[in-house]
Amino acid sequence: MSPNPDLTERVTVLASGTIVTAFTKPEVLTDGAVVWQGDRILEIGDSAEMIRKHAGARNLDARGGLILPGLVNLHHHFYSSLARGLNPGRPLENFGEILDGLWWRLDRALDDDTIRLSAELALADSIRWGATTIFDHHASPTRIGGSLDLIAGAVDRAGLSAVLCYEITDRNGHDDAIDGLEENLAFFRTHRHDPRVRGMLGFHAGFTVDDSTLAAAAECRLDGMGCHIHIAEDPLDLRISQVAYGAGPVSRLENHGLIDDRTLAIHCIHLGSDDRNVLAAHGATIVHNPESNANNGVGRLDLEAVAADGCRIGLGTDGMSSAMLGSLRAAFLGLRGGRRDPRLGFTVVPDLLAVNAEVAGRFLDEPLLGRLVPEAPADLCVLDTAPPTPTTPENVFAHLVYGSASSPVRHTIARGRVLLEDHALTSLDSTAITEEARRATPALWNRFHALGASRPDWLPTRD
Ligand SMILES: [Zn+2]
Repeated sequence: MSPNPDLTERVTVLASGTIVTAFTKPEVLTDGAVVWQGDRILEIGDSAEMIRKHAGARNLDARGGLILPGLVNLHHHFYSSLARGLNPGRPLENFGEILDGLWWRLDRALDDDTIRLSAELALADSIRWGATTIFDHHASPTRIGGSLDLIAGAVDRAGLSAVLCYEITDRNGHDDAIDGLEENLAFFRTHRHDPRVRGMLGFHAGFTVDDSTLAAAAECRLDGMGCHIHIAEDPLDLRISQVAYGAGPVSRLENHGLIDDRTLAIHCIHLGSDDRNVLAAHGATIVHNPESNANNGVGRLDLEAVAADGCRIGLGTDGMSSAMLGSLRAAFLGLRGGRRDPRLGFTVVPDLLAVNAEVAGRFLDEPLLGRLVPEAPADLCVLDTAPPTPTTPENVFAHLVYGSASSPVRHTIARGRVLLEDHALTSLDSTAITEEARRATPALWNRFHALGASRPDWLPTRD
């Protein structure tokens, strides 16, 4: 990786915005400026004073917008980018059919070009929505070995930070599961000290991973290699885990020693308190994906109940979009609507983005990530919302969910590089990527339609 090739020593002053220094316990500075050099923040202060002090620096104008720490997405699937508008050709009536009829056909149809293009499209969108660090959960069963390097190449070109993994699964046979394990191990080793791209240990979901695969993964897992896995997205996961393996997904992971404070437990909608207590006791993070859950009709994570069990909760998009503030608002509205209680939302939901930043900081060895303070990585975004009412540390979340979640992002800066400047991408050529994607998609969709069901015997036809 090549960190900050052209801005290593250059000072930049981003001025004339309302600065929110963190997602939890922030300081708020109106008409403020953030100053950085290379990939580190130097200082934060009054706009006029910072411009005067750093005469000769590059100036960037926030135009009165809201300056936030760069957003972190804890669960994405870049590989889903080219599914938009794809007709699966048969009704998908439940969660098992959504997997079998859509995602488990699309992932097998991916080749090198469409893996790369899918990543580039999602990365471009992430930059457009102010995300600077993304955790991706990848699957491409006909191209397992080397697939994470294809994605890492796109991440490097985009200029973002990412934590990547391959979804290990036995659904295409045990050899493929072991190939997935080896891909995770090789990538983790290669990127162990990379400043911007790291690896972790990915599993699809407990119900598609055999005990022998879990045992092999537990034996080979390297120090610091957290697990990223879908858990209890649908009752199907719990039911098949019990029938096929005699235990639920959380118990199986715990029995193999695979749960720790680097575990990302995705969804967890249908877990009971006992399982949630296990995740909480190990310091795992449950990752909420409200828009995807609604789209798949799989139920709703009860954030209040999960928080009451002491679980740490983060936020992702699960491939539905790359817009983290949209996901934040969906979490807020889903909680109030689902519980039919307008008092809820201001205790649990505001912490989600702060948890995301803390988790990303742990994986990337950047304890100040997610805070706009001296020595922190220069990861930030500027929303095109000039707050029309006072912004205070106490009401920042209200500004986000009621005003800013649908605002365009004017600038996105990652490790000091301006990747989005006045709404224009600088590191990726969005027009060229989109045109290439349009040319490549018909062949991908033809391969998709030529593939039959991958359905393992144990996957029931109907819930
Ligand atoms: Zn997912």
